[in-house]
Amino acid sequence: MTTTLSTNQSTITKSELNNTKSDTLHNNPIRTNWTLEEVKQVYTMPLIELVFKAASIHRQFHDPRYVQKCTLLSIKTGACPEDCAYCPQSARYNTEIKPEPLMDLKSVMAAAQHAKNNGSSRFCMGAAWREVKNNDDFEQVLSMVKEVSKLDLEVCVTLGMLSLEQAKRLKEAGLTAYNHNLDTSRDYYEKIITTRTYQNRLDTLNNVSSAGINVCCGGIVGMGENDEDRISLIHTLATLPQHPESVPVNALVPVDGTPLAQQKPIAKFDYIRMIATARITMPAARVRLSAGRLSLSFAEQALCFMAGANSIFAGEKLLTTPNCEQDQDEMMFNLLGIKSDPESTIMQ
Ligand code: SF4
Repeated sequence: MTTTLSTNQSTITKSELNNTKSDTLHNNPIRTNWTLEEVKQVYTMPLIELVFKAASIHRQFHDPRYVQKCTLLSIKTGACPEDCAYCPQSARYNTEIKPEPLMDLKSVMAAAQHAKNNGSSRFCMGAAWREVKNNDDFEQVLSMVKEVSKLDLEVCVTLGMLSLEQAKRLKEAGLTAYNHNLDTSRDYYEKIITTRTYQNRLDTLNNVSSAGINVCCGGIVGMGENDEDRISLIHTLATLPQHPESVPVNALVPVDGTPLAQQKPIAKFDYIRMIATARITMPAARVRLSAGRLSLSFAEQALCFMAGANSIFAGEKLLTTPNCEQDQDEMMFNLLGIKSDPESTIMQ
């Protein structure tokens, strides 16, 4: 039987619609050979055109009615030896963060169950480490990954630099994704972090994907970088051997005591421009509205969803910085007719 679908202009068959969709997909294939100039052309499009193009591509690869909720828990807080200029968890800066040791398994499980009950389908655990060491703490994190995965949640961790062997052990434990952000462009990077190199980060990403774990990798905007840096960051992400499965786009949340405490906030439309460019260049990735969402109105967040964002961090804290209230998110989802997705929405 042939199913027909009515539109305002005409009546088309479902198979014609599918053909149209695959033609369009063919016109917008997943590419990892973007040139810097091409990414620049996307990023610098008039904003309305950019959002429209991003929204069109978003609809070819994802169901736009769904936005994934993720919960991020700091399982080991503060006292980090690194010098990331935005981070209140660095031991080098005088911030209000009180260092806390690695959480116990029971508390982590309670937080994961709570996240699931509140509609999150992904649970991310962050430890303020320079790198993973082969010690008891790592064994404990492996137990956390194993147990959280039994809750039928996607499990993600962010633990700093990681070897291939360690990545394989996380994979065996049931890890879905490993977060390791590039933060900014290669050129601007040394103004933000001096204690590890850009190449260190790329090496960790390589170890993660070689172990068969999804890469979660994005950056932070509003740290004083310029448009060229933002374009370069997206270009690096979009030309990795495989696009990250998810791309968190963070806006700096300036924290007292850090070197970036006085940084002027990024213009909201520049943030939206970044989301749209990520969507167009990495069409199958989840693009995640991450830190800084609290400063966006519902209307601004709606524009981000239009521009292809399809994941948010839910819960009142993002590691150590404040995030949107649960009831506000519920209100926004209802208002916009968005649902949180328990399943992957990537269209085949
Ligand atoms: S961002 Fe991570 S690595 Fe950098 S100082 Fe903060 S906790 Fe340490």
